Amino acid sequence: MKVSKMPKGNLCEFCEGKVERRVIQARVPFRGQTIYVDKVPARVCTKCGEPYFDAAVYKRLEEIAKHRRCIRKKVSFPLAAYDMALT
Ligand SMILES: [Zn+2]
Repeated sequence: MKVSKMPKGNLCEFCEGKVERRVIQARVPFRGQTIYVDKVPARVCTKCGEPYFDAAVYKRLEEIAKHRRCIRKKVSFPLAAYDMALT
């Protein structure tokens, strides 16, 4: 799973940007699939956007990913083609 655990202090591990508390839609890669979990409490780097999760939140995301067959709601995203006709 490519989600990062809490950094020490309030600085991003990657760019040392400031990390801010936010509620986000988390992207959770799990065994070759990706699921999205809405309304996840996290901290997000204000510079590079890297999300960090508390250990408990991280664990819950893993659990959700394992139980993804229980997900009821499927969301489709609008996907535009770059060369679509703009009329
Ligand atoms: Zn960063």
